[in-house]
Amino acid sequence: MSSETRVILSERDLPEAWFNIIPRLPSPPAPPLDPRTGEPVRPEDLERIFPRALIEQEMSTEPWIEIPEEVRKVYRLWRPTPLRRARNLEKALKTPARIYYKDESVSPPGSHKPNTAVAQAYYNRREGIRRLATETGAGQWGSALAFACRLFGLECTVYMVRVSYEQKPYRRTLMHLWGAEVHPSPTERTEAGRRILSENPNTPGSLGIAISEAVEDAATHRDTNYALGSVLNHVLLHQTVIGLETRKQLEILGEKPDVLIACVGGGSNFGGFTFPFIGEILEGRLSAEVLAVEPASCPTLTKGVYTYDYGDTAGLTPLLLMHTLGHTFEPPGIHAGGLRYHGDAPLVCQLVKEGLVRARAYPQTACFEAAVLFARTEGIVPAPETGHAIRAAIDEALRCRETGEEKVIVFNFSGHGHFDLAAYQAYLEGRLEDYEYPEEKIREALERVPRFEPGRGKP
Ligand SMILES: *Cc1c(COP(=O)(O)O)cnc(C)c1O
Repeated sequence: MSSETRVILSERDLPEAWFNIIPRLPSPPAPPLDPRTGEPVRPEDLERIFPRALIEQEMSTEPWIEIPEEVRKVYRLWRPTPLRRARNLEKALKTPARIYYKDESVSPPGSHKPNTAVAQAYYNRREGIRRLATETGAGQWGSALAFACRLFGLECTVYMVRVSYEQKPYRRTLMHLWGAEVHPSPTERTEAGRRILSENPNTPGSLGIAISEAVEDAATHRDTNYALGSVLNHVLLHQTVIGLETRKQLEILGEKPDVLIACVGGGSNFGGFTFPFIGEILEGRLSAEVLAVEPASCPTLTKGVYTYDYGDTAGLTPLLLMHTLGHTFEPPGIHAGGLRYHGDAPLVCQLVKEGLVRARAYPQTACFEAAVLFARTEGIVPAPETGHAIRAAIDEALRCRETGEEKVIVFNFSGHGHFDLAAYQAYLEGRLEDYEYPEEKIREALERVPRFEPGRGKP
């Protein structure tokens, strides 16, 4: 073990290929289904909203997929990112554990999200698309895509979940600054939005609703495609630069991880950070615990049902086999807006199902407490989403204090919280509350999940 506090790789160490976990899985992933036929979606069906290159990546069984030089050129603006040791936090916790974190907050938009936004903008541009439509929760994905579109000369339309549009005005400004158009969702611009507004004019919105609007926008405009910030295989694929760099950095330190932790909204930072390690676990070359952390008010992996469900509220997307709280579930307006999604990446769900990944849920005040301790020891202000990973890392370190184990705990620091200071203000003034586990709302939403049996075709 080396005593470094920061491991900075040189630009030469930037990964040349993304790591594809699909060919390494014990069983092949269940295909997305066309809701009209119950049959697997055909690549041609997706061409109305995605470029061919991304559809190929979505279904690829190649073990490695080369990163285009144009994408690597943009990555070099902030990548490779540092791996840091949280020594002050260790000291504050009086733990014998060693805590490391991969710092994805150093990107221009401040999170891991541009790792895929840049790749998606590049492939869409290459295939002649003029505009991208997307949804955003807390605004991190919208700002990452706005940034990437700007660099590749694309227009960008963002449907922003209304509660976040109101809570996070500065993320909106950031998107405007990079040239995007931003609408509070649900809007009157789409059929999906109009329908939801007519049923519930005061809805806070949800990621599921915003996705419906962005997909409809893309499907009804020939020069426009849709971009998704999480959940899909190609998104997790692009994020594997995180885990690949982390693996190299730990090697330089002479460390092997005992516990790997990331928060889960749709699963992209979790997948990107852990998949290269899970690949090693599957090959028997590493033994480590892998922990996925989610909010107790949107407990997809810990309380959801593993079944086929829509990715959006209106039921426009293919059916995905995943843990879900029901596509009509509207989670409470917690401040970790990026974690308010009814489903999760099918690849992550499959790993949970197969017992390779353990899931845990925390209420938001426990996560803010952890985030504040982190800011007061390590200095960086975490995004509320990242606070979930930090909470779990701290709890693991505290357990080591009891058992005396010198575990190596590594977590992904998915983003900074500079645009979440209103939430921190509320926490510091004691105004932040935990929501009850929305059992009744989840039960209702689960009743509206389509009854598809995995692998059985039509209902
Ligand atoms: C969007 C976001 C998340 C959650 O999304 P995933 O796809 O699960 O990674 C977590 N942390 C930050 C900082 C985010 O911006």
